[in-house]
Amino acid sequence: MGKENRTGVVLKGIGGFYYVLSDGQLHECKAGGRLRFAAESPLAGDRVEFTLEGKSALITALSPRKNVLVRPPIANIDRLFIVASEAPPTTDPFLIDKVLVIAARQGIEPVLLLNKSDLVENKELQSVYRGANVPVITVSAVTDEGIEEVCALLAGCISAFTGNSGIGKSSILNRIDARFALSVGNISEKIGRGRHTTRKVELLPLCNGGFVADTPGFSSFEITKIDRMKKDELQLWFPELEQLFGQCRYNGCAHIHEPDCAVRDAVSRGDIALSRYESYCKLYAELAQLKEWET
Ligand code: GDP
Ligand code: ZN
Repeated sequence: MGKENRTGVVLKGIGGFYYVLSDGQLHECKAGGRLRFAAESPLAGDRVEFTLEGKSALITALSPRKNVLVRPPIANIDRLFIVASEAPPTTDPFLIDKVLVIAARQGIEPVLLLNKSDLVENKELQSVYRGANVPVITVSAVTDEGIEEVCALLAGCISAFTGNSGIGKSSILNRIDARFALSVGNISEKIGRGRHTTRKVELLPLCNGGFVADTPGFSSFEITKIDRMKKDELQLWFPELEQLFGQCRYNGCAHIHEPDCAVRDAVSRGDIALSRYESYCKLYAELAQLKEWET
């Protein structure tokens, strides 16, 4: 039997096998020796070349990645949907801000979904994040407000959803694609997610040609330790702060307690949301501490 070369997208890797979707078909592949020696493990989201020979399938090459997250392990995310709400369980804005930094640094476009609009107006969150230049969509998994808009953004892209538990991620996804629940079941069955299987990231194909990663909550997004971000770099990922760059009295102003700080002035005038500034300070402290114990 001859060899056949194909390309596809890795939906999930588990126990040394990679599940690659190619022309609507799912293939169970192993990684070729060259990849294993290069210690380049395929990740969910990777676009790969693979060779089919009889029943065996071998991944031979990975396409260059647009971006990669270490936690959760996934490549080539186009868009990150952050689901939040002022209805219980309310979202801690610090977690939104942390995820926004991670997304910005990786070139992933964030979209904030303010959910449960049938119960609350989400006015505060709306004003804070419009002010931070983040695209915001008001949604409800009950009335379907905003669902079509989200659907259009998912088409043809690799997206991930994050947000605190109970905020409505699964409910929104189920409203987006009537076949979604079905395809979740199908793919999981084929991949064999059993009771003893460790939960990993999995891409779920949507009927509009997009993929959604069933990423778990905020807790899996880790900014420190792995990324080695320098504390002075942090301000670049807060657009409101970056905009004031060079306007403080001191050149290396960290905007924490320096005098004549343009950022702190903007916060006291209300031009920068207090919660955003507090998140900056908290993340800055986390990064500063990290550097100490690294050296
Ligand atoms: P997840 O943990 O983020 O996946 O949240 P779920 O999708 O499981 O939703 C948690 C709870 O919130 C469920 O009881 C849902 O019915 C409810 N819920 C989700 N979205 C909405 C919404 O837009 N409006 C209302 N009223 N309830 C919602
Ligand atoms: Zn400053």
